[in-house]
Amino acid sequence: MAQIGFIGLGRMGIPMAGHLVRAGHEVRAYDRDPNALAAARETGATACDNLRDAVSFSEFIFTMVPTGKHVLEIYTGPDGVLSLMPAHSLAIDCSTIAVGEAQKLHAAGKERQIAVLDAPVSGGVMGAQAGTLTFMVGGEEKHVDRARPILGAMGRNIVRAGHAGSGQAAKICNNLLAGISMIAVSEAFTLGKRLGLDPLILREISSTSTGSCHALTHYPPVPNILPNVPSSRNYQNGFAADLMLKDLRLAEGAAIETGSSLPLGTLAAGIYSMFCQSGQGTLDYSGIIRMIEGALSQSPAA
Ligand code: NAD
Repeated sequence: MAQIGFIGLGRMGIPMAGHLVRAGHEVRAYDRDPNALAAARETGATACDNLRDAVSFSEFIFTMVPTGKHVLEIYTGPDGVLSLMPAHSLAIDCSTIAVGEAQKLHAAGKERQIAVLDAPVSGGVMGAQAGTLTFMVGGEEKHVDRARPILGAMGRNIVRAGHAGSGQAAKICNNLLAGISMIAVSEAFTLGKRLGLDPLILREISSTSTGSCHALTHYPPVPNILPNVPSSRNYQNGFAADLMLKDLRLAEGAAIETGSSLPLGTLAAGIYSMFCQSGQGTLDYSGIIRMIEGALSQSPAA
């Protein structure tokens, strides 16, 4: 059993903390939102009304907050977590943030002799609830090995991506792929429908053909092809388009920093941006098919 401090009890943090409690760990939770703290209490965690109480006696500190700005404030701000963590404890940030921000956190930890891992996740709220998240971890191997049994309570796949910041690099590249391919699959299904194809048949054919990909086989944007995906529940309770846009923006930032070009990534970010600006950003990102269908119906060829 480990002593764990958990900061950020939102949609992801609550089910993740719940798994840690059920695995027998003692979890001290902190969130600046009292409603989140109340929800944390229901998981069996000890709700703390300040950072110090959550962090001071913990061997592992988890953070699961919205952005890199939040992460750096929490760890490196005045009376931040790095100054409160006991010696030999391990900080594990699971938020999705920029590679450069993660590297800043690793460097700030090093200055204070605190080990840090960047460990963003894939699998969304459903994966967090089911305890089947994939963790992509950046940092020293010995620290990853130390974290592995704790991460194992929340996830099924724990992969060391490489040095500091590599977890975030892997997350951004993965979501670049996911965001672009969801648009591609939406276009194919929309065109197929207008050509008279049954979407079930198109999926069956493409899933064993060269067009196969995760969005097509496991996460189709067309409702009622698969029962347990967001498209079959009106695009609710999935991976919000707002978050996909955030991750594509992180990819664009990383591309600028590394002198890379992302012709499709930039286009995809523009498409999700329009979708979010139309007030649909809280819908699952597969809801992008609604906009693709609308755009096609206005095109001269439709
Ligand atoms: P959320 O907004 O539901 O929860 C974030 C929580 O952090 C909130 O309860 C908020 O009050 C708390 N918080 C913010 N600043 C804080 C501070 N300074 N001190 C204490 N608490 C603070 O967000 P989420 O959906 O749980 O996502 C968290 C992170 O996980 C994000 O970086 C997101 O990109 C990433 N992520 C989310 C999903 C998803 O499907 N929701 C999937 C993969 C990755």
